[in-house]
Amino acid sequence: MNVEKILTHLEKKHPGEVEYLQAVREVLETIEEVYNENPKYEEYKIIERLVEPDRILTFKVPWIDDQGNTQLNLGYRVEFNNAIGPYKGGLRFHPSVNLSILKFLGFEQIFKNSLTSLPMGGGKGGSDFDPKGKSDKEVMRFCQSFMTELVRLIGPDTDVPAGDIGVGGREIGYLFGYYKKLTRHHDGVLTGKGLNWGGSLIRPEATGFGGVYFVHHMLENAKIDIKCKRVAISGFGNVAWGAALKMTELGAKVVAISGPDGYILDEAGISGEKINYMLDLRASNQDIVAPYAQKFAGAKFFAGKKPWEAKCEIALPCATQNELNGDDAKLLVSNGCICVGEISNMGCTPEAIEFLQSKKILYAPGKAVNAGGVAVSGLEMTQNSAHLNWSAEEVDKKLFDIMTNIHVACIKYGTGKDGYVNYVKGANIAGFLKVADAMLDQGII
Ligand code: NDP
Repeated sequence: MNVEKILTHLEKKHPGEVEYLQAVREVLETIEEVYNENPKYEEYKIIERLVEPDRILTFKVPWIDDQGNTQLNLGYRVEFNNAIGPYKGGLRFHPSVNLSILKFLGFEQIFKNSLTSLPMGGGKGGSDFDPKGKSDKEVMRFCQSFMTELVRLIGPDTDVPAGDIGVGGREIGYLFGYYKKLTRHHDGVLTGKGLNWGGSLIRPEATGFGGVYFVHHMLENAKIDIKCKRVAISGFGNVAWGAALKMTELGAKVVAISGPDGYILDEAGISGEKINYMLDLRASNQDIVAPYAQKFAGAKFFAGKKPWEAKCEIALPCATQNELNGDDAKLLVSNGCICVGEISNMGCTPEAIEFLQSKKILYAPGKAVNAGGVAVSGLEMTQNSAHLNWSAEEVDKKLFDIMTNIHVACIKYGTGKDGYVNYVKGANIAGFLKVADAMLDQGII
């Protein structure tokens, strides 16, 4: 495989798709060696076939706002690869959504889903619709219009979307309700459903919990105790609160949490009622971090700043892609950071990753660290098709085992001669081999 040749060709075909090209480069550079060991991959053009989605549906989403005005957004579903199972991946509703971002997320999802060891292919979708500041009825009307088109592609054994940025329980509820009306099917077509109508226990916490299980394994493998370690977290959305909760449970101390407007530093630790307070603010669509500093004595709010300037040993990006850059990485390390566990997808820029790895800091990429979310989505699909519900303990145990196995796979393929684990390489190779071999088995399709 000639990585540069493939990337130059892709850049020409998809000019300006920066995030997608960034994600493809990261994977190709780390799998080159194992790829070249099997001539069949080249013969059957596995890479060329893997980097292009199977299909993309783009559609307009008209809806009516509360004032009776017509609004219009764009919707997408990228079905990337279904070699090992139905397309599976979340929906993102955010004004920044475009095809490049969804293609990067869908591409990453192929390897992440493969790592979980569950039978799930890769996909992603979403819209440039912004649920923030919209009424419930506006969100409902938007979701119904979105589903009118999405229904053409999805099915419990074909393509199973879930949540992501801007898509939580409320949005999944409206999407599922309309799917059911259009098809008359009550099945596992979406994950992240409400507990009363097919959802799985632990799904809301799964990405954060799984991320912390993974980070715990990284530390244990390096013989470092997690207890009393200071933790900085970005964002306070679907994934961050679960991470904060589990970190506290394991004895670490969350000292910083951020929003788009800045971060709070609370030396007393952010746990218990403080997390509940932020969850209440989030549920009522309010700003989260600035009010926190007013409510809890001793907490400080740093407007417009990132949490990476706080002194911490563990950093958990939990907000969005490329949110931790090279300068942030340098600052973290100079302040004593020893571990960066990316819970957001592609949370670190290539410069940040290069720096962290050059300093032998424990660093693991989103596709490994955040795989717990889709893993429990996979468990939700299993429960739906078997028409049963597992207890929280059962799901949590399965989640823990899956994260343990992903960590083992990363160690297997990512450990260098000096013992340093390159988790990017480990995750990419482990995820790739399974998909590539399935593609070989299934012929050129
Ligand atoms: P949410 O929208 O629920 O949460 C994101 C949070 O980050 C919000 O609080 C948002 O604030 C905040 N935020 C946005 N931009 C910034 C910024 N620049 N700095 C600090 N905070 C910011 O999304 P999720 O929690 O679902 O997703 C977060 C990340 O995790 C994404 O990368 C996603 O792809 C990834 N992920 C999510 C999974 C899931 O199960 N949901 C599964 C696997 C990965 P505001 O709302 O005010 O904009």
